[in-house]
Amino acid sequence: MSMHLASKLPQVGTTIFSVMSALANEHRALNLAQGFPDFSCPERLMQLVTEHMQAGRNQYAPMTGVLALREAIAEKTLTCYGALVDVEREITVTSGATEALFAAIMAVVRAGDEVIVFDPAYDSYAPAVELAGGQCRHIGLNPPDYAIDWQAVRDAITPRTRLIIINSPHNPTGSVLGAADITILAELTRGSGILVLSDEVYEHIIFDGQEHASVLRHEELRARSFVISSFGKTYHTTGWKLGYCIAPAALSAEFRKVHQYLTFSTCTPMQYAVADFIAECPEHYQELPQFYQAKRDSFLEGLVGSGFKPLPCKGTYFQLLDYSAVSDERDLDFARRLTIEHGLAAIPVSVFFADGRDDKVLRFCFAKSEATLREGTKILCSI
Ligand code: PMP
Ligand code: GLN
Repeated sequence: MSMHLASKLPQVGTTIFSVMSALANEHRALNLAQGFPDFSCPERLMQLVTEHMQAGRNQYAPMTGVLALREAIAEKTLTCYGALVDVEREITVTSGATEALFAAIMAVVRAGDEVIVFDPAYDSYAPAVELAGGQCRHIGLNPPDYAIDWQAVRDAITPRTRLIIINSPHNPTGSVLGAADITILAELTRGSGILVLSDEVYEHIIFDGQEHASVLRHEELRARSFVISSFGKTYHTTGWKLGYCIAPAALSAEFRKVHQYLTFSTCTPMQYAVADFIAECPEHYQELPQFYQAKRDSFLEGLVGSGFKPLPCKGTYFQLLDYSAVSDERDLDFARRLTIEHGLAAIPVSVFFADGRDDKVLRFCFAKSEATLREGTKILCSI
């Protein structure tokens, strides 16, 4: 007898990342869909993990994270953004940014609360809001620059607005917020009780000499914000699932109440290794903009003469391509056909819109070796 269960997330299926990676594997297609590097993390970082494992650091880490890592995060935050962060009360290490996003949303969103999200939105935000009993108010961003219309935000705020979720550099569009956007957000939320969740996992992947406009640079806004990052992006280690949340003490206290029952703590030897590596090799994150900008430019160069039109990419390791000159299929159908018939997997961007809006753009991950990028652009130029 089959069981009928009323789903708590009736709209949710398997994530597009799992779907496209499985389709790519099935058809032996080049996978520029799910975002992950196809090259190794630094050799020294792996060596450090081994050393810490062999030194016996294999049991539960403290619930808030290994002290050495929290200290390294605090120092890096001061260097990068001029923000003094309290190691004991304001930093929590998590099992990836995904856990941090979920814990922050669960900690503050109550039944009936509204949360403003910008579409296309990273796919984990809305389900977390729904599980917390809240409701998303979706504000659409428009090509080619996918900038935030702050008047639309002003209009969307109600007495029930509890949280605004921003993400810069932005997945999937590659747009970035500037200091002026952060100032407006601070003005809009001043004295309102509205909190901010700032997803900054691509903080070090930003191009053309721009500075990352972290919420941590804004003393006032930071006092009502959760700022979330991930070492998976910065150190080419998406499989380690190591992230963190910086928030003022009162918010961190609530955040930790969720985190301690969600995962309690995060993989111990990796925390020690990343702590050492941040201190030993700051040039790794300092050089990340050039490293990824070269990959973006090489991908774009390979596309010259193709029917795919690139949209501006100012950060992240994703490039949007407008395929309307090549096909009028829905992006979901085109992405499937591209994988099955042409051997190249990408992400259809409509899945990140609550209303399924289809701008006829696909997202391609360029965190790949030169050889992979060449193979990808060769396929795109042949279509
Ligand atoms: N937010 C955004 C915007 C992302 O692209 C990702 C990467 N998957 C995450 C959060 C989650 O990061 P992590 O892999 O550390 O859980
Ligand atoms: N963040 C990555 C992406 O956007 C993948 C995350 C995942 O697979 N869950 O492609």
